[in-house]
Amino acid sequence: MLSRLRGSLLGDIVDDIAAYLHERGHTPKVAQAYLCGAGHFAHWLDRERLSPKAVSEATLASFMDRHLAGCRCRVPHGSRRHLRPALGHVLAVLRARGWAAPPSLPAQKPVDRLLNAFTVYLQETRGAAATTCRRNAEYARRFLEPRYGAAEVTLQDLGPEELLRFVLEQTRECAPGTAGLIRSALRSFLRFAHVHGLCDASLAAPGSARAVAARKVSRCSRTTWWRTVRSAWRGVEPRDATGAQRSSRAAVSRSAGTRRGHDSRARRQPRSE
Ligand SMILES: [Zn+2]
Repeated sequence: MLSRLRGSLLGDIVDDIAAYLHERGHTPKVAQAYLCGAGHFAHWLDRERLSPKAVSEATLASFMDRHLAGCRCRVPHGSRRHLRPALGHVLAVLRARGWAAPPSLPAQKPVDRLLNAFTVYLQETRGAAATTCRRNAEYARRFLEPRYGAAEVTLQDLGPEELLRFVLEQTRECAPGTAGLIRSALRSFLRFAHVHGLCDASLAAPGSARAVAARKVSRCSRTTWWRTVRSAWRGVEPRDATGAQRSSRAAVSRSAGTRRGHDSRARRQPRSE
């Protein structure tokens, strides 16, 4: 079996495979079973005229899922349960040798690309610290991913009411300090998007920014809080009565109920911050 393997396309790495299995602490018996599986795989590579340099997870899957079903190879097969790990070891050695290509990274989504650009902007244009870059990108991701998933990010379609709803949802349960970081991250992202011509100027404009800020709603009195909400509401609602407007109002009202409860609880308790 070993001599057959040495004469195959994997012949040059037989010793590497053996050393790899030894280093991993496999017993000689198990190593023999793996080498047997490697021999079967090498025979199939020969037959299919596939170069070891082209071996990847897809090649292993093709061998396991398609070839084995109708396999008539006249070579030792070894046990089926050892075969899959044996192929994994072969691929690991091929990669360690630099023969097989490293595993491909999952393709980046448009959201990932945009956030990478945002991070570069924060680092290079704004001089932000690495922690700030990571945090702002993470909060911006919370906003973008549920909306766009794997699709292109089209911020031109974005309305201020969506931003306000996001901020209210995200900050409802957090400490004031965290809420401030979330709002700051979103403002920073909108500034970046505006500078790069990705969103309408009105989104990054001061008026809209005031709405997005939704400011210190957790610490002010109910009267002040309502004034803040109404002010933000006026700033974000379209003038005509639409379904979007009603849903925006409902979202703000739902939030109001929660916030009122939160505030009344907060007033009963001494401040700890
Ligand atoms: Zn076969």
